[in-house]
Amino acid sequence: MLHQTMERVISHVFPHTKEYVYVSWRSHVISTRTFASHTSRLRSVPRAFQNPQSRAFSGFGRRCSNGQYNRFNDSGRGPRAPPLIHHLLLRARTEHFVLLGLGVSAFYYYNTEVVEMTGRRRLNFISAEHELELGEKAYREVLAQHRDHILPDSHPASKMVHRVLERLIPQARVEGAQWRAHVIKADDVRNAFVLPGGKVFVFTGILPFCKDENGLAAVLGHEIAHVVAHHGAEGMTRNYLLRSLVTVASFLFDISAMIPAYLSHYLVNLPNSRVQEAEADDMGLIMMAQACYNPEAAIAFWQRLVNNKEAHEVHQFLSTHPSNENRIHALSEKLNTAQTIYLNSGCQVANEYMPDFRRAFAYHK
Ligand SMILES: [Zn+2]
Repeated sequence: MLHQTMERVISHVFPHTKEYVYVSWRSHVISTRTFASHTSRLRSVPRAFQNPQSRAFSGFGRRCSNGQYNRFNDSGRGPRAPPLIHHLLLRARTEHFVLLGLGVSAFYYYNTEVVEMTGRRRLNFISAEHELELGEKAYREVLAQHRDHILPDSHPASKMVHRVLERLIPQARVEGAQWRAHVIKADDVRNAFVLPGGKVFVFTGILPFCKDENGLAAVLGHEIAHVVAHHGAEGMTRNYLLRSLVTVASFLFDISAMIPAYLSHYLVNLPNSRVQEAEADDMGLIMMAQACYNPEAAIAFWQRLVNNKEAHEVHQFLSTHPSNENRIHALSEKLNTAQTIYLNSGCQVANEYMPDFRRAFAYHK
């Protein structure tokens, strides 16, 4: 019964999704937790965690017999063998631990890399080519899903997004990327997201919070940064590893896979997602300044979201994103650097497109 209840809870919290990479990248939207239609995806975990190789909780129980605790089998009719970890530890020798340590170290050494703009060291064994392939597949799916709501390129809102994107792209050098932006008509969705390979989607509901092209540059800069930093590949690497560790842990300790899945999701997956989001904020701030967009607009954008009464933010610990207040604080700390770049870049013409934004937004409304 407990097991069934847990499964119901998990299936509710982590609903099934079609495509892993899509989930991974949908989790990198810039504004979260505000839209019912997207909240489920934002809170998703990898498919392996949605349907873990679970074992009934009844097999996890212990029964007392003759003053000793004995493990029983799933039917509860007899004693059950100790978990595999018990046998392994009994037979393990020092050299086994040394070999294991060397193997893990070698794996980490050969699969780590540094994010160029921030210097952050991270694990990633997904090739850029594979990431691009998955991004293309996800792109076709997203286009099919939203085809009836994608605004034409001739629409003023689309033109505005394309214009800002084109100005940011020179700051985002990604081999193999084919940048393309689409605007999706959904006024109640305050969101934007990007797919590996450079396909950016902006929902019309976020445009009022952008206020002008500087604010839109903050949104697009953040999304572009995810592609530049290959956060998709990093996220896939992390989830492949966690999925493997969850499976191994469930076998070793003879427990339901839900337990390590939950632990790894909250203790590893979510914190790392927040690291990526914070990194995308930092990189996006620098890129928008390099492209002559006023970096102060990024902070103003987040403040407008914070002040929005309709936004319901979940606690940071339970979220893939840092809290909006923390984002503002972190961006404020980087603002001096970004402003120096902005002022030294000869950006006096940066705001000449402002009337275009107002016209585009008025038309959209
Ligand atoms: Zn993001």
